[in-house]
Amino acid sequence: MEFLRPATWGEALAAKAEHPSALPIAGGTDVMVELNFDVHRPSAILDLNRVAELAEWSQDGGVVRLGAAVPYARIIAELSGPLPGLALASRTVGSPQIRNRGSVGGNLGAASPAGDAHPALLAAGRDVCVEAASVRGTRLIPIDDFYTGVKRNSLAADELIRAVRVPVADGPQQFSKIGTRNAMVIAVCAFGFALHPGSGTVGTGIGSAAPTPRRAVEAEEYLRGVLAERGLWESGEALGTEVVQRFGELVKAAASPIDDVRGTAEYRRHALAVLARRTLAWTWNDYGKQIRSAA
Ligand SMILES: Cc1cc2nc3c(=O)[nH]c(=O)nc-3n(C[C@H](O)[C@H](O)[C@H](O)COP(=O)(O)OP(=O)(O)OC[C@H]3O[C@@H](n4cnc5c(N)ncnc54)[C@H](O)[C@@H]3O)c2cc1C
Repeated sequence: MEFLRPATWGEALAAKAEHPSALPIAGGTDVMVELNFDVHRPSAILDLNRVAELAEWSQDGGVVRLGAAVPYARIIAELSGPLPGLALASRTVGSPQIRNRGSVGGNLGAASPAGDAHPALLAAGRDVCVEAASVRGTRLIPIDDFYTGVKRNSLAADELIRAVRVPVADGPQQFSKIGTRNAMVIAVCAFGFALHPGSGTVGTGIGSAAPTPRRAVEAEEYLRGVLAERGLWESGEALGTEVVQRFGELVKAAASPIDDVRGTAEYRRHALAVLARRTLAWTWNDYGKQIRSAA
């Protein structure tokens, strides 16, 4: 097995162009497990750890450009303000060791339906995009087009993830996950939710309950309509049980889970409705407080 160790981003792209079947490795928290269990036997490994810019983030106006290899621990420590949903999701990943190594770029590369970054990225809005690069150039892949199947994504063979671009939150965001224990467990199901008062929209993301991470489109549309028609963005008044209940049901209906060792499809649907109701109640409560304190 060849071991490629580029020192710069340019060298990394050139190496990927020359060896399209080379398996990139960032934190290695997915890759090393799969190598150890002989899931993969790639002809080459492309180690990205010397490429400094992958471990940097920057903020330009209303958008955070998060380098693919920035570890979860730093997202929690440095980005809870601008990216609260992603920071909350990051807190639930693995253990301190995994959070020190694992990255959003790796989560996107693996594209597991159970990856915790995905519901938060979907909920953060349709402007979230993955910056994919190759020697041919750079393209921005909207997050809604990124996940193409179980553990599959829309990267071409010669492309690497440079960064993910996420709009700075303009309202409260939440992430909630169910596992069979508190830590070091793959989610039975997960849900990300975000209020976007600037655009009058809401964002959702469902994890571990469909072949790919996905949003609950009808739930988003329903809530957007209710909030606009009832003037709730302006008043911040309580939503009422019926609205919260209906939102939960629509999120449940958007899932298409399977039965597996971690939970039944029926349990996942039920749990998602609960997570959706809770995260909506938490975020709306926070939003209402903001409106009242500003009045
Ligand atoms: C004990 C344990 C607990 C875990 N718990 C969780 C959890 O709670 N939640 C969760 O979501 N995940 C969990 N994981 C999985 C893993 O930690 C995450 O998926 C993490 O985000 C992977 O990031 P990484 O940098 O380690 O990726 P790597 O293992 O380095 O790579 C993962 C995949 O992405 C590809 N890749 C990496 N970087 C790039 C790039 N720049 N461009 C293109 N492709 C790239 C790799 O080729 C590989 O296919 C756990 C893993 C372990 C071992």
